[in-house]
Amino acid sequence: MKYTPAKPPIYGESLDSLQSHLAANGEPKFRAKQVMDWLYKKRARNWDEMTNLPKSLREKLADSFDIAPSKRVLAKESADETEKLLLQMDDSSMIETVVIRAPQIGVGQESSRKTICISTQVGCAYGCKFCASGLAGWKRDLSTGEIVSQLIHVCHLEDATTQRASEEIASFDNIVVMGMGEPMANYKNLIPALRILNAPWGLNFGARRITISTSGIVPRILELAQEPEQFRLAVSLHGATNPVREQIMPINRKYPLEQLVPAIKQYGQSKGRMVTLEFILIEEINDTLEQADALIKIALELKAHVNLIPYNTVDGLEWRRPSIARQDTFYNRLKNRGVSTTIRREKGHDIAAACGQLKLKMVNSE
Ligand code: SAH
Ligand code: SF4
Repeated sequence: MKYTPAKPPIYGESLDSLQSHLAANGEPKFRAKQVMDWLYKKRARNWDEMTNLPKSLREKLADSFDIAPSKRVLAKESADETEKLLLQMDDSSMIETVVIRAPQIGVGQESSRKTICISTQVGCAYGCKFCASGLAGWKRDLSTGEIVSQLIHVCHLEDATTQRASEEIASFDNIVVMGMGEPMANYKNLIPALRILNAPWGLNFGARRITISTSGIVPRILELAQEPEQFRLAVSLHGATNPVREQIMPINRKYPLEQLVPAIKQYGQSKGRMVTLEFILIEEINDTLEQADALIKIALELKAHVNLIPYNTVDGLEWRRPSIARQDTFYNRLKNRGVSTTIRREKGHDIAAACGQLKLKMVNSE
């Protein structure tokens, strides 16, 4: 389904496209830079705040573009400092944006690290068997403006409590593209969005602090490897042999491990950086020692970091999280063989932080 809003969001414009728009409407090009400054540096929330623009121009802009980022429907804060925002788009589709705070012991709130997890699609077509986002299927891609808006929404929320807006820098430290949807299936809107966030005239946010997570769309991984930016890549592996991976991730039939692993290797080599392999631990599906050994082989070959994620149960799905003892055995096996590994002691488990779950709860209770 293709969705065309009445007015496109201003956050979908690049400096070039806004300059062209203004020139076509008889306005000088330099105004585009001023608008970008207001949006990304001073974080104006409406056109009237842009006091160095003539009123006639502000009116023209208001006629052409929507400036309000998506509407917040619900915010849930968990005990471990994860905050989940449910955002409603113009067509009333709902998406999730998550703020994950990692406070540093002994320092003030300002120095806590914040990671923002953004969505790229409404729903997801890839149907991984364990995932809430995949359950309802794919509804539509988010536009470039809708992707950027999620981060501006968070900036507006966070700016109230931090100094960062006055320093004209982003209100968070990392972006992870791990919310609802498969980012690589919306490559055409995602990459321009990340470029707006990265641009000096935009949020000026470093590409190395942006991680894109994919279920393994091989041609897009290879395409991303050719882009000039140093985006980080995370691959949802979740199975270290084809039969196990195929059982939970249908995409493995199209791009099996013998294609996926070399593509990840190429990505790592062309960027000169370590790729992350995400591995959800699901009881008796992929948490066996045979899987650990197959994973060790892949991780060592790729020189990749492995992020183990104990499965977050989803209502209506049969999969279970392994016991801490089983998780530890798996983790230690990797560690002892020299694999760089972390295990995520789940943030936000109590508010269902894993992808798509808050939305699923809302929809089910309607
Ligand atoms: N589509 C992309 C990005 C969104 S999913 C991808 O699949 O990588 C982000 C991460 O959350 C993926 O690693 C995904 O496998 C994981 N995930 C999905 N459901 C989960 C659950 N119930 N518990 C833990 N992690 C989950
Ligand atoms: Fe889609 Fe990722 Fe969920 Fe798979 S894990 S259904 S690709 S969002």
